[in-house]
Amino acid sequence: TPFVDFRDVWLAYNDELLAQNNFAVEAIDLQVRQGEFIAIVGPSGCGKSTFMKLATGLKMPSQGRILIGGQAVTGPLKISGMAFQAPSLLPWRTTLGNVLLPLEIVEPYRGNFKAERKQYEERARQLLKKVGLAGYEDKFPWQLSGGMQQRVSICRALIHEPRMLLLDEPFGALDAFTREELWCILRDLWTEQPFNVILVTHDLRESVFLADTVYVMRKSPGRFVVKR
Ligand code: ADP
Ligand code: ADP
Repeated sequence: TPFVDFRDVWLAYNDELLAQNNFAVEAIDLQVRQGEFIAIVGPSGCGKSTFMKLATGLKMPSQGRILIGGQAVTGPLKISGMAFQAPSLLPWRTTLGNVLLPLEIVEPYRGNFKAERKQYEERARQLLKKVGLAGYEDKFPWQLSGGMQQRVSICRALIHEPRMLLLDEPFGALDAFTREELWCILRDLWTEQPFNVILVTHDLRESVFLADTVYVMRKSPGRFVVKR
C-alpha cells in the first residue's frame, strides 16, 4: 500500500469559494510509496502550498480522501517534519537549542523528559555532524551563514525521526553553490535512512537531481502530470 494516497482531492478555501467552484487544487490523484522522494514543481499559484497543507492535515479536503500511512487524515499530523524557504530559527537559541526545539514543544507532556532529552541531544549532535555543522552546536543563528541556518532547520525537521519530511522551497534563498552543496547533504541523509520526502520547488534541476519522481503541477485542467 502507498504511504501517501490522495484520491480525487479537491479543496476550496472557504464556502464562498466553494459555491463559486473556485478550487485551490482540483482532482489530485497521487500515490507515494514508502520511502519515496517526490518533488512537485509548478508556477506560483498552482496549488503547491495547498497540497502541503493537505499532506500535513492542516487543511481538510472539500472533496476526496487522503490516507497517510494507511490512515485517513482527520487533523494535523505529528509524523512529519517541515522546513521552509526561511530557516526561521529562534535568534536567542543556539544551534543545538534550535534543533531540540520540537522536542520541547511535544515532550514535556510525557513522563521521562530528562532521560529522553539526553538521547535526543545525542541525536541532534549526530545530525549536525552529518550536515557538516560539528563545532557549531553553541553558535547563535546570527553567527551562521544562510546555508548553515538552513542546514540547522533541516536537522530540526528530522529530530523526531519523522516518517515524512516536507520541504517547501527550502533552498530558494540560497546562492547556486550553497544550494548544490545542500542538495548533496539532503540526498545523503535520505539515502542513509529513507524517509518519505515531499519537496516543493521552482527549480526543475533541483527536482530532477533529488527526487525519484517529479510531478508537474499546473493550473487546471489536468493538474498533475507525472514524469519519471
Ligand atoms: P502555490 O503554492 O503553488 O503558489 P497556493 O497553494 O498558494 O499555490 O495557491 C493555490 C490557489 O489557492 C491560488 O489561486 C491562491 O490564490 C489560492 N489560495 C491560497 N491560499 C488561499 C487562502 N488562504 N484563501 C483563499 N485562497 C487561497
Ligand atoms: P554555507 O556553505 O553554509 O552557505 P558560506 O558559503 O557562506 O556558508 O561560507 C562558506 C564557509 O565559510 C562555511 O561552510 C563555513 O565553514 C564558513 N562560514 C561562513 N559563515 C560563517 C560564520 N558566520 N561563522 C563561521 N564560519 C562561517
